[in-house]
Amino acid sequence: PGHGGTVRTWKHAPRDFRALLETSRFHGDKVFLIYEDEHLTYEEHFRRAATLARRLVDEYGVGKGDRVAIAMRNYPEWVIAFSATLAIGAIAVPLNAWWTPQELEYGLSDSGAKVLIADGERAAGLTGLTGFTALTGSGPALIVTRGEAPEGARSLEDVIGEVEAGVTLPPVELSPEDPATIFYTSGTTGRPKGALGSHRNLGQSPMTVAYGLYRTLIRAGREPGETAGQRRVTLLTVPLFHVTGCFAVMTTTMFSGGGLVLMYRWDPGRALELIERERITGLTGVPTNVWQLLSHPDLNRYDISSLSGLGYGGAPAPPKLLERITEQLPGRAPSNGYGMTETTALAIGNTGADYLAKPDSIGLPMAVVEVRITDPIGGELPVGTVGELCLRGPNVILGYWNRPEATAETFVGGWLHTGDLARVDEEGFVFIVDRAKDMVIRGGENVYCAEVEAALFEHPAVEDAAVIGIPHDELGEEVGAVLRLSSPATDEELRAFLRERIAPFKVPVRFWVRETELPRNPGGKILKTRLRQEVLGPS
Ligand code: ATP
Ligand code: MG
Repeated sequence: PGHGGTVRTWKHAPRDFRALLETSRFHGDKVFLIYEDEHLTYEEHFRRAATLARRLVDEYGVGKGDRVAIAMRNYPEWVIAFSATLAIGAIAVPLNAWWTPQELEYGLSDSGAKVLIADGERAAGLTGLTGFTALTGSGPALIVTRGEAPEGARSLEDVIGEVEAGVTLPPVELSPEDPATIFYTSGTTGRPKGALGSHRNLGQSPMTVAYGLYRTLIRAGREPGETAGQRRVTLLTVPLFHVTGCFAVMTTTMFSGGGLVLMYRWDPGRALELIERERITGLTGVPTNVWQLLSHPDLNRYDISSLSGLGYGGAPAPPKLLERITEQLPGRAPSNGYGMTETTALAIGNTGADYLAKPDSIGLPMAVVEVRITDPIGGELPVGTVGELCLRGPNVILGYWNRPEATAETFVGGWLHTGDLARVDEEGFVFIVDRAKDMVIRGGENVYCAEVEAALFEHPAVEDAAVIGIPHDELGEEVGAVLRLSSPATDEELRAFLRERIAPFKVPVRFWVRETELPRNPGGKILKTRLRQEVLGPS
């Protein structure tokens, strides 16, 4: 869809992925990817990616606009496959490695992938699927790494073969508006949608993140130059197949020449070991990662003095998180970033002194991003009024893959309708009130789950909380809450506590206490549909 009005852009951002990759070569012998005992320098990464790019063109006939799916854990090969695909103008389709084989097959057919590059585990799962299209000849060609290649597939190492020092990228004409990626949304509100991002979108994102970091330093009263001499090493705690991992962390690292430490799976104890061993300077993930790190019994046994930045986002941060960071890891610069698959990761962020002053805000938009709060028919609402958060900027994607209706509904005149309810204060700070779909409507009265959850979190015994709607004949819905408690508290105590903070109609009529952690997706979001089924039975 055409953007209404003039969209502001970062002037010095890479114009497309190819430019980003070629520039990364100047970082030469510096280590880019670190996985277990493996270290890959920028030059080595470039050569492998360029060689694979040549093979995809020559041996698999991949051309501009063709889709290449990637289904793996966070291995260095993920980055190589992604780089090779984008460099030849093909569209990378990162698939969720937690998906079942059936879901992976959905992603492959939905995107119409020509090639699938998978790890051994994903390949094995898919091979077990009756009629798996890659092996029946009707689907993508299969390339496998980190595991056995089944009959009819080739291993990535075999495909890449000899890597030559003088290798160059195959020629291709790229324009910043060309599509580059299809990332599937988390599926929190329905079936995951393929978000089609352009080369401009991803080229702009490292600048957005850099701006966010710069603002963190400025607001913390430090000189950005102070860290210029220090090599940045970032721990990736989230999957590469979501935009936070791919854009807020991976391509941003590639742009800055830093090191990126990959983990097979998130494990807070292992993260502490890695921070000490690799002298990690920053960690970017979801709020749950940081929360678990702070709760780890061995937190004080490791030397984590190198760690100066703690970034998180992608899901609401528990109100106690900032407090805990300030107490347990003083001097670190925490920041909360708001972003969506549709905004190529970071769009709005809160950091430094601002974050301490307004801990419940997601902060200010990232300079090139514009914010508008609208009523249900799209009219702009005044300061302080709750409405739908709409965003515009060079990070807003082209639309949804093969979904013209959803695209037309969500992207209106260049503005992305986020589906989040928010308000903006006098100073421009954005406050997320709730997701439009995460509301309990009690007798026609809207109850924002997030507001009730925030009140619950203030209670010292509440470790975690999720507010849900309970079907009710007369009122339509009643308010309920599923809790994890650190010490016992009776329903009556909790209700009395809440009545001092929120209106009586918002106070849950029923509580469920869970012994185990609340179910969350890898993006840190509570799986409310599952919780609702657990406590209420199938609807
Ligand atoms: P789907 O669109 O498929 O239902 P999803 O919206 O969860 O799934 P994502 O693009 O991964 O998929 O997540 C974006 C959403 O995450 C935002 O719309 C917002 O509701 C939430 N979010 C992201 N960052 C933050 C943050 N810092 N604070 C609160 N909520 C956030
Ligand atoms: Mg969404």
